[in-house]
Amino acid sequence: MKNFAYVRAASVQDAVDRTTQNSTTMVIAGGTNLVDRLKVFLDQPDHLVDVSRLPLKQIEPIRGGLQIGALVTNTALADHAEVRRDYPLLSRAILSGASQQIRNVATVGGNLMQRTRCPYYYDTAFACNKRQPGSGCPAATGVTRSHAILGASDDCIAVHPSDMCVALAALDAIVEVQGAQGNRQIPFGEFHRLPGNTPQVDTNLRPGELITRIILPAMPAAKSGVYLKVRDRASYAFALVSVAAIVELSGDTIRQARIALGGVAHKPWRAANAEQFLIGKPVTTPTFEQAANLALQEAKAFSGNQFKVELAKRLIRRALTVSAQGGGVV
Ligand code: SF4
Repeated sequence: MKNFAYVRAASVQDAVDRTTQNSTTMVIAGGTNLVDRLKVFLDQPDHLVDVSRLPLKQIEPIRGGLQIGALVTNTALADHAEVRRDYPLLSRAILSGASQQIRNVATVGGNLMQRTRCPYYYDTAFACNKRQPGSGCPAATGVTRSHAILGASDDCIAVHPSDMCVALAALDAIVEVQGAQGNRQIPFGEFHRLPGNTPQVDTNLRPGELITRIILPAMPAAKSGVYLKVRDRASYAFALVSVAAIVELSGDTIRQARIALGGVAHKPWRAANAEQFLIGKPVTTPTFEQAANLALQEAKAFSGNQFKVELAKRLIRRALTVSAQGGGVV
């Protein structure tokens, strides 16, 4: 780890000013991913601004939904009574990630900002376009079990590691940020980026911008939302594939559906074509099979992760079926 100067931010504006004025300054909150990266020299800031004591730890009602401070811990959010009641898929997604100890200190804002766990990225003996643009992507011809099947590029096939973000994508969350030009809101689907030819850039945050809140819109149908995750171990493992699904019914007909996938792309992946297909369709097994096929029709697997295509289809069918039946623990 390279030496750095440490300072506690006095306010959100203080943190924004410090990171805007100095490009070698980074923000730390829970540090559950950043410290790992610092240890192996993936990040080498000159200054670390600790925002963990700023007053962004509230979960409050807003316009029928919830406003979540960026420094709310994963545990506090997963355990919150209204989250468990109104957005149970979010609670289950969080609880399926990491360990209890990590969830106790990891923050909501940090969850959005965590970087891929592609092993080649963390092993500095390998080249990596995300670590050093233009150096190459050994994963593409290497071990690809944990890599992308949707939205990848020739430059990077990494996946986003978060469970929470998959649920937030399905819930149409909004990310509120503060920067040198003031506050702005980013729809969740526009927050993270696909790799393209700039895999070193994970998000659409502007330099110096700090996440301050996540807003969950009112969504009565989310009560029946489902989060399913398949991984190599029963706990403390990233998703091979995960699915967040919400089915809203009008009688036996689907009024609207939301499907987000994790473990398959560089960002939480909304299956917009499958969602569109489901509108007005009857709740039947063939309906959900067709939707699952549509969601994966653009999939491009590598030698080590072809299983993900069928796995994702099965998880989508299961998640849609359970949500249409009212949700609950799967
Ligand atoms: Fe680096 Fe992305 Fe290739 Fe992994 S997949 S080695 S993160 S460029």
